[in-house]
Amino acid sequence: MLDWLHQTLTSTVTHAVIGALMPIYDFLVDGSSRYHWIYVLSGLIIAAYAYRKHSTAMSFETTLLDKQVWLSKSAINDYIIVVVTPVLRLTVLSGLALNWKAVSATIVTVLESAGVSGLTHDANVMALGVALTVTLFLVDDFLRWYAHYTFHRIPELWEFHKVHHSAEVLNFATAERHHPVETIMTSSLLFLGYGAVNGIFIGLFGEKLTVTTVAGANVFLFAFNVCGGVLRHSPFWVSFGPRIEKWIISPAMHQIHHSNKPEHFDKNLGGALSVWDRMAGTLHIPRGREIEGFGIGEETQDFRSLQVIFLRPFTAAGSLLRKRFSRATDEQETQPAAHQASTHSITA
Ligand SMILES: [Zn+2]
Ligand SMILES: [Zn+2]
Repeated sequence: MLDWLHQTLTSTVTHAVIGALMPIYDFLVDGSSRYHWIYVLSGLIIAAYAYRKHSTAMSFETTLLDKQVWLSKSAINDYIIVVVTPVLRLTVLSGLALNWKAVSATIVTVLESAGVSGLTHDANVMALGVALTVTLFLVDDFLRWYAHYTFHRIPELWEFHKVHHSAEVLNFATAERHHPVETIMTSSLLFLGYGAVNGIFIGLFGEKLTVTTVAGANVFLFAFNVCGGVLRHSPFWVSFGPRIEKWIISPAMHQIHHSNKPEHFDKNLGGALSVWDRMAGTLHIPRGREIEGFGIGEETQDFRSLQVIFLRPFTAAGSLLRKRFSRATDEQETQPAAHQASTHSITA
């Protein structure tokens, strides 16, 4: 018993230390991280170019060195979340994340039992590898959009997503400012998609296909991130112009998503592509710098407290759930057939 306790404690502490060091690894090595150094460098070059080309009210240097952006309470909370989330993921929440390899293996087994051979001619391997790379990127981007859309539409989930929208300034770390529940739910959905696509391709064509990656990231995601992906969460307003923004979410478009103006609520939920928003009617292409500030109205200030950030989503979502159940029970008693699910729109 003592041995077990000792081993569990040692392994938890080890995982906690690894989790705490993860942001450094993400910055230096992991191309799938949104603040990998290559993206930060390319983003700063793009912002410097854009600010010099279009003379702006504030210069590139003044914007970059704005203390509020990097040292305000909102920014410091971003840094704490960046460290706390991987620690929680690798310790108390480790059992909750879905394993994409298990999903992939299950699909391969199902296809095998259905008589699918899983073999392809060597000449097709390269073309199929490209198809796999494109499919993985599209499925991943759609699922990111869908998860984000759901977190905006369902009131109980919105309570968790408020953590991201309560940022008062945007800096590179704000990209990771999410409640751990949202992080786990979204990454599980993405793993499910990644495992499913891999399983289908392996089941149909065998294991020889390779995904094209750069620095460990899908080449299309790398390309998107290198073209200013990091500026989505930054003090820089960088727009690509309406013709490109019909297809790609620019940094300015994501800043519209964080805007505290009601006409911007629930708009531009996409990751890299704006086609999903266009199809759902949630696309907003800015005409000039439309933003005045970020946040969720009066409640924003409450989220300067870490206790509110980590705990309020549970209590708020719990009380919404209780109301939902008691309303459903009342409706059943008075009018059994008439129930319609309520949808959410942000009221900040
Ligand atoms: Zn959002
Ligand atoms: Zn954001």
